[in-house]
Amino acid sequence: MELLKGKVALVTGGTRGIGFAVVKCYLENGASVALCGSKKESVDKAIAELKEINPDFPVIGLYPDLKNPAEVEKAVAETKEKFGRFDIMVNNAGISARDSLYDYKPEDFVNIMNLNVTAVFNCSQAAAKVMKEQGGGVILNTSSMVSLYGQPSGVGYPASKYAVNGITKSLARELGKDNIRVNAILPGVTRTDMVAALPKEVVDRIVAPIPLGRVCEPEEVANAFLFLASDLASYITGALLSVDGAART
Ligand code: NAD
Repeated sequence: MELLKGKVALVTGGTRGIGFAVVKCYLENGASVALCGSKKESVDKAIAELKEINPDFPVIGLYPDLKNPAEVEKAVAETKEKFGRFDIMVNNAGISARDSLYDYKPEDFVNIMNLNVTAVFNCSQAAAKVMKEQGGGVILNTSSMVSLYGQPSGVGYPASKYAVNGITKSLARELGKDNIRVNAILPGVTRTDMVAALPKEVVDRIVAPIPLGRVCEPEEVANAFLFLASDLASYITGALLSVDGAART
């Protein structure tokens, strides 16, 4: 079943990990997708990988500076111009730093806030303007399980994801009247490049307290993005959906 047939999505941080899985899942479900990354080379590589799976996938690559509102507006406009409409904004790009407070570099804190929070604001604003004109749409934000209870080091990252939850809840209340739904997905430990590179002992230690007894696969997170973007979730807005195997909850 093509749950997103005829829909157009823009996915930030789409070159690898969770974002790449979302792009692939959306394409397989009938959407047209603008895949965004920070560098042309990584965007081109991701597009080539997708075209190998299916040369007819309707996907374009963009690399706007998400911290720059004008560049974000241009990316949204280009997506609409290419595919004729604009339905789904996925705010997924994110970075973290794990230092303790005593060693935390102030510039790391600012960089994390700029990408994880300000970019989500910029993209939501640009997307909502187009969606309102069009009669509706869906904004989905990648938050994290640490947005529910913090983490014992790297304070900037959980702080940014608490902010993402706040943006999600507030915009859901503000934009409902314009038929724009806004939700967040809170992944647990997910097998992206970083997790895949960890030694088995470290992964075993991470997995031990997770009731489902394993890390999450990016495709399992992507399925939540699929559901929430689709009409199956037509009455769901302002939700924070955990995809974490009940880790720490
Ligand atoms: P990743 O590091 O594998 O990929 C990050 C993506 O963000 C890449 O596509 C990259 O191009 C993009 N990006 C990085 N810096 C950027 C910048 N300055 N401008 C634009 N794009 C930039 O990440 P991932 O693990 O797949 O994480 C994706 C999202 O999921 C992030 O928001 C992250 O916080 C969240 N998350 C991940 C996990 C996990 O275990 N992997 C758990 C919870 C939440």
